[in-house]
Amino acid sequence: MITVEEAKHIILENTQDFGIEEIPFLEAAGRVLKEDIVADRDFPPFNRVAMDGIAINHRFFEYGVRDFKIEGIQPAGAPQQTMENAAHCYEVMTGAVLPNNCDTVIRYEDVSVNTLMATVNIDDITENQNIHAQGSDKKKDTILIKKNTIISAAEIGVLATVGKATVKVAKQPKVLIVSTGDELVDVNKNPLDHQIRRSNVYTLVSLLNNLKIPAETAHITDEKSVLKEKIESYLKEYDVLLFSGAVSKGKFDFLPEVLDELDVQKLFHRVSQRPGKPFWFGTTDNCNVFAFPGNPVSTFVNCLVYFYPWYKKSVGVSSVKKTAILTEDISFKPNLTCFLQAKLTSEKGQVYATPIQGNGSGDLASLVEADGFIELPKTEEVEFKKGSVFPIIRYR
Ligand code: AMP
Ligand code: MG
Repeated sequence: MITVEEAKHIILENTQDFGIEEIPFLEAAGRVLKEDIVADRDFPPFNRVAMDGIAINHRFFEYGVRDFKIEGIQPAGAPQQTMENAAHCYEVMTGAVLPNNCDTVIRYEDVSVNTLMATVNIDDITENQNIHAQGSDKKKDTILIKKNTIISAAEIGVLATVGKATVKVAKQPKVLIVSTGDELVDVNKNPLDHQIRRSNVYTLVSLLNNLKIPAETAHITDEKSVLKEKIESYLKEYDVLLFSGAVSKGKFDFLPEVLDELDVQKLFHRVSQRPGKPFWFGTTDNCNVFAFPGNPVSTFVNCLVYFYPWYKKSVGVSSVKKTAILTEDISFKPNLTCFLQAKLTSEKGQVYATPIQGNGSGDLASLVEADGFIELPKTEEVEFKKGSVFPIIRYR
């Protein structure tokens, strides 16, 4: 049985390139940018008036002038005008181009204005104040957003402002999520006493939605021939298959044999971890197969620990490692990596993890009480001390 570290390594050695597509910029939120976005002009593109008020030539203020004849008005959206007499002023609006011959803007709050004249009521005026100088944010041709950035609302605004109506992003993989098991019925059905509703596929759909991957779903009963027939066609059609269930040691856990018979190359089966130990991972020329054990906490944690970094590396995004401080002593006997559900809190910039004692890997209700998992390393030691720092996997 391999370790979690070895399993992660193998998975990251087997990433895929899904290619690039060009999509409307507003649909790009959450997607991974595949081109550098450069400033098509200076930011701001002209000396922008930053306050409603009057624009003057500072020299005259220095000479002691306080009354300025109003020569004109420069609204936002009008071409730049020229103040002919440097001893005059222009009324200017936020967002307007600063008129020629002006270098200082005084806000309306600090002047008295009638139709002809503006009188400045304060003495504390600095040259160039209230002007957002052309190119002071970014110069034309500067890279504003780097390739491989995950696009958020902040980037959407920048894309709009540089006129990128369409943008190149990483294509998403074609994913099918398959649940297995004769005991499972769908959400809208009333289960019989010996049945349960299938939940893992929807957890996985939702986890993939977080990555903006639109996944399809299917269900297969525990019949070997049916499994084989269906998976054979899925392998041709999809880039990724995510299974839940049928990879453990049960009499009806046919998935490993079926995948083997279909020539999917097994890269590992079983990882020294809890929960999620019977995880199976393999590959064909065009498809990666993640077969997670069916217990809901196992499926959940394995998707976060293995599928997420695999996907991120595939699309060129680095995974950020996070840690937290354990708030109480924990003892964990088996010599396995333990993914322990935890409530995560922040205080003075530090993240603290308080373990939630769930009722094992079948207890999906306890996931609601936690925010993530703490990764306690595989070690001979049984005690993990309060105050120690461990990696965390946050899902909230
Ligand atoms: P298996 O890995 O197939 O042995 O399943 C382990 C446990 O997880 C069993 O109790 C299953 O009923 C449960 N299980 C499997 N798949 C799902 C699913 N899609 N939703 C909820 N529970 C599941
Ligand atoms: Mg099963």
